Amino acid sequence: MSRVAIIGAGASGLVCAIEAARKGLHVTLFEKNAKVGRKILATGNGKCNISNEKISLERYHGESVNFAKEALRRFDTLTCKAFFRSLGLEIREGEEGRLYPMSHQASSVVDMLLHEVRSLHVNVLLDSEVTKIETKDAAFVLHVNAQTYVFDACVIATGSVAMPNLGSSDSGYRFAQSLGHSVIAPYPSLVQFVCDEPHLREVSGVKMDANVELYVEHQKCQSVQGDLLFTAYGLSGSTILDLSRNASHASVHHQSVHVMLDLLPDLSREALSSLLQKRLSVAKDKSLALWLEGLIPKKLAHFIIDYTKITHLKEASSLGTKEIKKIVFALKALRLHVKATKGFESAEVCAGGVDVREIDAKTLRSKTIENLYFCGEVLDIDGDCGGFNLHFAWASGYLAGQSLK
Ligand SMILES: Cc1cc2nc3c(=O)[nH]c(=O)nc-3n(C[C@H](O)[C@H](O)[C@H](O)COP(=O)(O)OP(=O)(O)OC[C@H]3O[C@@H](n4cnc5c(N)ncnc54)[C@H](O)[C@@H]3O)c2cc1C
Repeated sequence: MSRVAIIGAGASGLVCAIEAARKGLHVTLFEKNAKVGRKILATGNGKCNISNEKISLERYHGESVNFAKEALRRFDTLTCKAFFRSLGLEIREGEEGRLYPMSHQASSVVDMLLHEVRSLHVNVLLDSEVTKIETKDAAFVLHVNAQTYVFDACVIATGSVAMPNLGSSDSGYRFAQSLGHSVIAPYPSLVQFVCDEPHLREVSGVKMDANVELYVEHQKCQSVQGDLLFTAYGLSGSTILDLSRNASHASVHHQSVHVMLDLLPDLSREALSSLLQKRLSVAKDKSLALWLEGLIPKKLAHFIIDYTKITHLKEASSLGTKEIKKIVFALKALRLHVKATKGFESAEVCAGGVDVREIDAKTLRSKTIENLYFCGEVLDIDGDCGGFNLHFAWASGYLAGQSLK
């Protein structure tokens, strides 16, 4: 019976261990943390957006994204649901096809996976950080806590460098390189923006439905409508996370990035302009801020007044056509310079990773080293927000586990 080492007891490593053990292989799972699945516990704000009803290749990215096709075909949404139900986990559907555990708790997902791993007699070694992998006579020698272990096959399921406070590290990339594989430089994705607009602090905590356009080197490159959250440092919310891959890529390549916010996307500029003109009839003795507050959140009203530099006008009734135009412009085309993203520390995932052109897409086996496999986010495949990243982690873990010999 083949002795298999899986490095990393996260989403991909746990599923890989289950599939390999179900085949009767002798599996040892190494985890550097004191517990398995620490990142899974943080997913979906603790509710774990496990997958999505609308899994398709278009929701994934990477330099050779077609690589993901086979894993997604073998482990589609139906297979994903069946897999988790086989562990005893019920699934519910949320907004935009997002799938969650019925319990609303990420811990249920980890508990079910761990129970299955244990009942299949997988040897789970916690507090066991693999520091080096050597190949010797067609075997893998793993260095862990001043000891060495020998295996016939090895799976690298170490995840990416996103959010190091959850235990993420670059060890998977280092192992891959030490074994002759190439790594496409990782950069943060699904991450917030840092902006340098001085008055942004005033509007911190305001959440709106907005249309956000991303400009790289002054060229519009993406547009998204949905949640936008103003924060003390800049911008967050689903729109920003969706734009962040392109913004982050531009930022690491020293290109200029800015966003254009339409804070009232349901009103055209003309409609907003005539609404504001009409609202002058209810201006009476209202201050500018109070008058705007009847239309937009209070904090945003103050921000718009500062941004448009019309603070000298104390009363709304003194607004002229020029000022109305400025307000319309600020609400429909608010331009903010993006200084940076919040980086790996805050990113949910990494773009880049182990170059998949050197890995067989049908088995996830290295094309150059016999019995070496990769799965999960360590690979140069990343997905959109909405359950797509966990889905790829499960799917690639499943495929690697089934391919192991
Ligand atoms: C805050 C947050 C929220 C998220 N929410 C969602 C969501 O709701 N839906 C979604 O689809 N995706 C979400 N993601 C992304 C998703 O969690 C990851 O894409 C997924 O966990 C990747 O799985 P993985 O197995 O590749 O890596 P991980 O789950 O990170 O597992 C890798 C494991 O390897 C271990 N390890 C690393 N190096 C070593 C070593 N040298 N020796 C031993 N062990 C090692 C790590 O400690 C870790 O446990 C979120 C991510 C974050 C950070």
